[in-house]
Amino acid sequence: MQEQKLQNRDKKYLWHPLTQHKTAAPPLGVVKAKDALFWDEGGNTYIDGIASWYTAMYGHCNEKISTAITNQMKELDFVMFSGFTHRPAIELSERLIQVLPSNQAKIFFNDNGSTAVEAAIKMALQYYYNKDEKRDTLIAFDDGFHGDTFGAMSASGLSSYNGPFEDFLLKVIRIPPPQEDTIDAVLELLDNICKNNSCAAFVFEPLVQGAAGMKFHSAKGLDLLLKKCQELDVLCIADEIMTGFGKTGKTFACDYLEHKPDVLCLSKALTAGMFPLSITTCTQKVFDAFLSDEVAKGFFHAHTYSAHPLGCAAALAGLELLSSDEILGRRKYIEVAHQNFVLRIKHHPKVKNARSLGVILAIDLAIDTRRYGKFRDRLYDFFMDNGVNLRPLGNTIYTLPPYVITNGQLQKIYGAIEDALEVF
Ligand SMILES: *Cc1c(COP(=O)(O)O)cnc(C)c1O
Repeated sequence: MQEQKLQNRDKKYLWHPLTQHKTAAPPLGVVKAKDALFWDEGGNTYIDGIASWYTAMYGHCNEKISTAITNQMKELDFVMFSGFTHRPAIELSERLIQVLPSNQAKIFFNDNGSTAVEAAIKMALQYYYNKDEKRDTLIAFDDGFHGDTFGAMSASGLSSYNGPFEDFLLKVIRIPPPQEDTIDAVLELLDNICKNNSCAAFVFEPLVQGAAGMKFHSAKGLDLLLKKCQELDVLCIADEIMTGFGKTGKTFACDYLEHKPDVLCLSKALTAGMFPLSITTCTQKVFDAFLSDEVAKGFFHAHTYSAHPLGCAAALAGLELLSSDEILGRRKYIEVAHQNFVLRIKHHPKVKNARSLGVILAIDLAIDTRRYGKFRDRLYDFFMDNGVNLRPLGNTIYTLPPYVITNGQLQKIYGAIEDALEVF
């Protein structure tokens, strides 16, 4: 039997994420990927300008990563992590502790970003419960994104995702991310919130809010918010799922801060885009609050595939690549190229704001936002027709390319963005 087009076969049984199936265009059948490129079933090539949601930073089908997974697969595929341990998890914990903010002491495994945040929130709530203190409120930024399970969704502030569930969410009070000129006002707001509520934790994306449209905020302001929380005994949970592993120029966005978070969430590039795995790390102080002669004061949260050895092997290989001379050189190259591109286009009449940090580049277009839905889709189609996978968020065009993108491919992304500025 001749193979039917993937697109046609897909339609019969599959339900895709973030998709209104009545109106959405059919998904693209992808058959192959290598480095910064992927191929569709019609033989067209695309540059993966967002590293498949910020995961494949060392390139698709990276041989070092796939070899590490293959070798691990032949030795120990999987064993549950409750009551058992294994070398890949231990070695990964030892390696990670060396690069994490210096106050981090314990590594808890999950299997995706949302559940890493979910575990972090449960840790914070139980931290106080174990001390016989009931704290029922979280603080989070406006327009944050932390994932799609209920706790993570509660902390998220993008109501377009959460509308139907809003009546069922945890209690969260929001503050605006601090800009250079609003730091004092946000600090005062935080102070008021903490004094008038039983706040357990402050959950935030450090420095860059991804899903909100790669919005940046002040590192100094965030640092002062952490300081304030720590004075008021509110745990700080940094969601580094997008920013982690070099995206902002430093290994973690929190490396820009003097005050360190109590809890940190990692996923996405953790496993170089090859395996779903996530980690929630915490300080000794948080861990110690779960030590007790009472069994129930332990942390009773588990996912079957926690600490999957294949994911740990991928993560170990990824960490080695992250600090290799080759990748360090590429990261620097992209950072400088982005800075130059920002200088080149920031005064374009259709550009409202252009910014970059590390390998993240974002451009807000000065367009009539009432055309938002259709406009965004036309922009997306324009880039795909030009062989570049960028997924504009509203009127924000951004790229977060794999570190291994070639100079020519990066220039092609810039060229497509400049063409878009002329066409739209
Ligand atoms: C992607 C993302 C998540 C959710 O991770 P999933 O693996 O999709 O559940 C949470 N927080 C941030 C900042 C993210 O970018």
